[in-house]
Amino acid sequence: MENYDYILPTYPRYPVTFVKGTGCKLYDTDGKEYIDFASGIGVNSVGHSHPKWVEAVCAQAATLSHVSNLYYTQPVGELAKKLCEISGMKGVFFSNSGAEAVEGVIKTARKYSNDKYGEGRHTIITLEGSFHGRTMAALTATGQPEKFHKHFHPFVQGFRYIPVNDIAALESEAEKTDICALMLEPIQGEGGVMPLDAAYLKKAQEICNKNDWLLITDEVQTGIARTGEWFAYQSYGIKPDAVTFAKGIAGGFAVTFAKGIAGGFPYGGFLLGEKAQATLGAGDHGTTYGGNLVCAAAALSVLEILTPILPTIKEKGEYIRKKVQQMNLPHVKEIRGNGLMIGIKLEGIPHTEVVANLLKAGLVTLPAGSDVLRFLPPLVISTEEIDAGLKILHETLT
Ligand SMILES: *Cc1c(COP(=O)(O)O)cnc(C)c1O
Repeated sequence: MENYDYILPTYPRYPVTFVKGTGCKLYDTDGKEYIDFASGIGVNSVGHSHPKWVEAVCAQAATLSHVSNLYYTQPVGELAKKLCEISGMKGVFFSNSGAEAVEGVIKTARKYSNDKYGEGRHTIITLEGSFHGRTMAALTATGQPEKFHKHFHPFVQGFRYIPVNDIAALESEAEKTDICALMLEPIQGEGGVMPLDAAYLKKAQEICNKNDWLLITDEVQTGIARTGEWFAYQSYGIKPDAVTFAKGIAGGFAVTFAKGIAGGFPYGGFLLGEKAQATLGAGDHGTTYGGNLVCAAAALSVLEILTPILPTIKEKGEYIRKKVQQMNLPHVKEIRGNGLMIGIKLEGIPHTEVVANLLKAGLVTLPAGSDVLRFLPPLVISTEEIDAGLKILHETLT
């Protein structure tokens, strides 16, 4: 058997073996060069082997890598403070993945309501087409039962799904008394790069405040500068008419993050605002690796590298969307997204076939939903690299 035959086939893999990455370029076993428009599903936000990231990781590995959460460590403390500063939240819990961040925030929402109101308010409302991860509760929260729930019954109880951007459905949930939280992705990622309406999010905030539900934004994919703000919910607060919304949202609110935080290391977590900051106490939640020092050092370097380029991200995304629009490509039905989270809805050709053809031509991209070609390039990508990637897109689709 080949080495790879020993890996369980849970992923349909493309026939490429990558051996090296530098910046926004990847190289396979034949030395062939690829432009990376995927970042390992939105993870390598500072590109591959960024010298500052490498230095931070090596220095921390050579100093102290792990001591457990029974003690304080400096990089983790520094990272916690930075994350609260950039988000306006009050406290953070570190996990190893997005799904675990979601699990933690579900526990928080249930305990928040239980502490305050007793039993009965345990239901979490999520959206149809959402994706929240593969562990049992996160999978239950994922509002795509046909695609993800078939073989794994019974599921965790206490979840209900409502359609995206449907204010009436949200209002009708608000008449029920069993709810502790509403969880949503500001832009649904795996579901097909589907942005929520600003008016819907505003209404969601209102209803959450009124009923004392925790509003949870799952920013595992949209967080850490992907959309041109540190967190996507901040994009919805910058419009003048929504300033109170921005303020309100920081009050009663929890946010998960993971993919882009540590530049390729397994790390994530959730941040809590004022309302729920005191919900979790000693013994209520934990994980052995969460708060690992090498990951924290990596994350600190990622935040440092991204800080000066943050103002350029929305512009770069706009540039890509406009250029793709102007190409007038066959099969392209709609271009959507925000910042460097870009979805191109296709018709008349399977999205997986387009991803495979682009890979063959030297451009690494991702599928999303059932018919969307998705770009999540490293946030440090240059205009030249964008142009080179889009040239491959043009040649492949025409
Ligand atoms: C990827 C993703 C998750 C799951 O993260 P893992 O690290 O794969 O467990 C959860 N929520 C969203 C929005 C995601 O995009």
